[in-house]
Amino acid sequence: MGVDDTDSPDGMCTTYLGLRMAALLASEMDLDVIGHPRLVRLNPNVPWKTRGNGAVSLVLGIGDGTPERVGAIDGADIVSFPRASVEQPGAHVDDVLHAASGLVEELAVDHPETRPGLVVSPSPLPPALYWNAVRDVVELADVEAALDALSASHRGWNGGRGVIGAAAAIAWPASDVTYEATAYRRRERWGTRREVDLEAARTVDGRYGTFSTSDPATGRVMAVPNTPCPVLMGVRANDPVPAAMALASIPSEEPSGRIVWATNHATDDHVVDIASVSLARSMITVRLDGTVARPPVRGPGGHVIAAMADGTGSIDLAAFEPTGALRDVVGSLVPGDAVTAVGAVRDGPMTINLEKLLVREAVDRYIKVENPTCKSCRVRMKSRGRDAGYRCPRCGSRVAREAAPRVRAGGPQKGWYEAAPSAQRHLTMPLNRPARCIDGGVLRGHRGGGPEDL
Ligand code: ATP
Repeated sequence: MGVDDTDSPDGMCTTYLGLRMAALLASEMDLDVIGHPRLVRLNPNVPWKTRGNGAVSLVLGIGDGTPERVGAIDGADIVSFPRASVEQPGAHVDDVLHAASGLVEELAVDHPETRPGLVVSPSPLPPALYWNAVRDVVELADVEAALDALSASHRGWNGGRGVIGAAAAIAWPASDVTYEATAYRRRERWGTRREVDLEAARTVDGRYGTFSTSDPATGRVMAVPNTPCPVLMGVRANDPVPAAMALASIPSEEPSGRIVWATNHATDDHVVDIASVSLARSMITVRLDGTVARPPVRGPGGHVIAAMADGTGSIDLAAFEPTGALRDVVGSLVPGDAVTAVGAVRDGPMTINLEKLLVREAVDRYIKVENPTCKSCRVRMKSRGRDAGYRCPRCGSRVAREAAPRVRAGGPQKGWYEAAPSAQRHLTMPLNRPARCIDGGVLRGHRGGGPEDL
């Protein structure tokens, strides 16, 4: 089953509903949760998202194998089984739809822009429903038609746009997976100031191999939201155990529940490789090679904008104020540098809002030491303006800009650079996401690497 769009900026969180749903199934229905409950982020560029465009799904069945405790709410454990027995739980579809509808009606906020959707499918859904929703903008009618063709039940409220996310969360193939251990607040505390030991939170990434808990440069703790939602904090890792241990190590107000989600956080699943500037369009996130075409310009809000081109056109590259030191890298680019840009495309003018930047080749740079001297008069020449060369104030002879004595200056080191952790999307793979070795040491999914790691 999948569910989405039950919250608003004023409250609630679809993940809380997912947690309650898992608990309800365990206590009142003859169904088990198979594998970890799933928190799936979708296209971060859709304008109608509340916050992080997250949806939730649970794989349900008759559990087989040794159950594992993956969470608890109000004192009741939530267990998950490693696999389902062969018995098909299709007969339960109506029961699940009924129970989940009750929870949506109890918990979803009443807000004009909250459009809950619920999907219950007796069989897995095609991964294309996920890839389209994480990488592009999709139409509700198309998703509903696909679900009908697959005999998946779906239900929507207030227009039911949440069916898009609910279906995508079920369809997520989990080809790359990370985990988030999330703690939830007691209901009476929703909307009040969170009590979390932020100093302790700042240490867990170093101690447990978790990532994105805090931003070492600014000290900001990203794991603790400041919205009025039920989430107390969430800690992310490649594997469930370190995430849960790190969460448990952070002193805080008494939570009402905890759960470890399997997620697509930090996977770069939202990034589409495109071969040319002409293929960029708004509301998708691209990875694109090009050559810097225009020197960077610093804007009043602290942002830096350069331009990149290939044979098919030119596109701006923007590093906004929250991206931190990434602005300095963009600011150090010069025409001719070969780069790969990763970021969301916006219209008017076409711009990539940078999440990451790879400097592939940096052309030689020179800094002028002084103005040139006139060969005939032996006096210092005067600049004729930016890029316009020099002129002798006595005889009037002119020379090009390159005639000035120059020294070679260093450009940015080749390699990957990224936005400050606090400015990163949930889906963005941080460069320091710990690598996971599988299949005899083949790194999965990790296209990052440090600045000198090309
Ligand atoms: P939170 O993360 O706090 O749970 P949210 O940011 O997920 O909130 P929602 O309230 O779920 O925001 O709103 C997102 C809406 O956009 C949902 O209705 C979802 O179905 C829909 N949606 C998600 N991805 C796409 C997409 N690629 N194209 C069109 N609609 C989408």
